[in-house]
Amino acid sequence: MLFEGLSGKLQEAMKKLRGKGRVTEKDVKEMMREIKLALLEADVNFKVVKDFIGKVSERAVGQEVLESLTPGQQVIKIVHEELINLMGSANSKVTFSSKPPTIYMMVGLQGSGKTTTSGKLANLLRKQGKKPLLVACDVYRPAAIKQLQVVGSQLGIEVFSMGDKTNPVDIAKAAVEYAKSRQYDLVIIDTAGRLHINEELMEELQNIKEAVRPQEILLVVDSMTGQDAVNVAESFNEKLGVDGIILTKLDGDTRGGAALSVKAVTGKPIKFIGMGEKLNDIEPFFPDRMASRILG
Ligand code: GDP
Repeated sequence: MLFEGLSGKLQEAMKKLRGKGRVTEKDVKEMMREIKLALLEADVNFKVVKDFIGKVSERAVGQEVLESLTPGQQVIKIVHEELINLMGSANSKVTFSSKPPTIYMMVGLQGSGKTTTSGKLANLLRKQGKKPLLVACDVYRPAAIKQLQVVGSQLGIEVFSMGDKTNPVDIAKAAVEYAKSRQYDLVIIDTAGRLHINEELMEELQNIKEAVRPQEILLVVDSMTGQDAVNVAESFNEKLGVDGIILTKLDGDTRGGAALSVKAVTGKPIKFIGMGEKLNDIEPFFPDRMASRILG
């Protein structure tokens, strides 16, 4: 189950306060210590934990609690609200160009789920009335083009490819021209990933960005990698600038750290989450729903 360990521990930490008619500063301190440990164990970024604890503590010993009729409940409400704020407050939607086609550039490390997610997103937005074209720009991994073609054929969505001998910038430009001539209103570019971030990769991504001016650069990160996922997001955002984050593999046995830290660290919203290997397993990300899932 999603964030099982974290959920259990947070619920445990708050249980003592639930029915309390009076909440002392000591009660709050004790609870916050347990919450802090639970978050650190879930691999949430240290600075994010510190800020979060600070914010909740300040509110929890303030007027809004002291003057309320159910102080215990009030503290729990504050934890819930601050958890939502941490993850971005509201659902951030992807945006569309006023002049089609809308171009999304999918970026991320190898294995993060970029190719699968490109297909998932095309499928999801097609259900909302878009006509998507998938573009194979990963020319370094021989299997990558084939993989996108397999995803495309499973979905019945066309994949634009020029093989692996053409420069990715030229492929991207040609794909956009192709989309315009065939009335595709959404172009999803699957770019190359590497095992680690390097200059060469960033330069190539910057060149594609310059060439096609995407509406959104969507960074795909693997939530199973915890703090690493957050570091990767920070680097991509600094070097390339990203508009949104897609967290994959949240169905796995993740500790939740990435989901809880990535927005706070990068300032960029999580827009979708991947919840499985199938091409339907993608959901828009709602911070309030996630907070409720975590707090039970
Ligand atoms: P890429 O190298 O970034 O293009 O990554 P792929 O799209 O090839 O995905 C790598 C692996 O992760 C594949 O086995 C996918 O099926 C798997 N995967 C991708 N997204 C998810 C997800 O949300 N949940 C799970 N469980 N697996 C995923």
